[in-house]
Amino acid sequence: MVVPEKLTPRQILAVRCPVCLAKPREKCTLSTGKPCLKTHLDRRLFAAKMSRSENFGQATVRVVREATSRTFDLLFHHR
Ligand SMILES: [Zn+2]
Repeated sequence: MVVPEKLTPRQILAVRCPVCLAKPREKCTLSTGKPCLKTHLDRRLFAAKMSRSENFGQATVRVVREATSRTFDLLFHHR
């Protein structure tokens, strides 16, 4: 479980804010149009979710690669 507070501002800004719809790499804005000093909590949670699925994807790729190399070993030994 990723703690939102451990995310870097860069990771948070990489996602679109679901609250104020700030674009990626743009800071959150309040409904008054003034820039918000803090990013919205929902944006941090969303960024945490995104970074978690990113890590999951990398882990999956590693598993697939290991399985593939194992299959090659089996094929080699059979021949
Ligand atoms: Zn926002």
